[in-house]
Amino acid sequence: MSAGRLWFYTNYHCNLACRYCLTESRPDAPRRTLDADAIVAAAGEAVTLGFTAFGVTGGEPFLRPDMPSLLAHLGSLLPTVVLTNGTLFTERLLDALRPLASLPVGLRYPSIAPSPTSTTRSAQRATSQKSSPRSLVAARSD
Ligand code: SF4
Repeated sequence: MSAGRLWFYTNYHCNLACRYCLTESRPDAPRRTLDADAIVAAAGEAVTLGFTAFGVTGGEPFLRPDMPSLLAHLGSLLPTVVLTNGTLFTERLLDALRPLASLPVGLRYPSIAPSPTSTTRSAQRATSQKSSPRSLVAARSD
């Protein structure tokens, strides 16, 4: 029996402050950053225990400067998906994500503008989109 996906809440602060945010993340929220060494250790243990995938969420994970290297490590072990608001993809970040193009790392980003009646994260998820570092880099060069 597989143990499923292990989720890492890597940090709780966010550059946005959505009123429907399940984790009450916002720019001035306590960061509560999960230590990189702890993530690496837990990921190795998860592989041993039979987990089949990783998930990374927050807060906004890409506020962490070490996120590209963390994703490279997680993606070298198991398929990994990252939930992001997609607002921080600068040229510099896309360059840092380029090495992930050959790894099973996917990005999922919701619409930042939910319908006026959307007050829950489940409603937000209904409009989520998927992408990968490869497609983001390709989109940039279009
Ligand atoms: S972008 Fe996501 S994590 Fe950030 S405040 Fe909005 S719902 Fe919360």
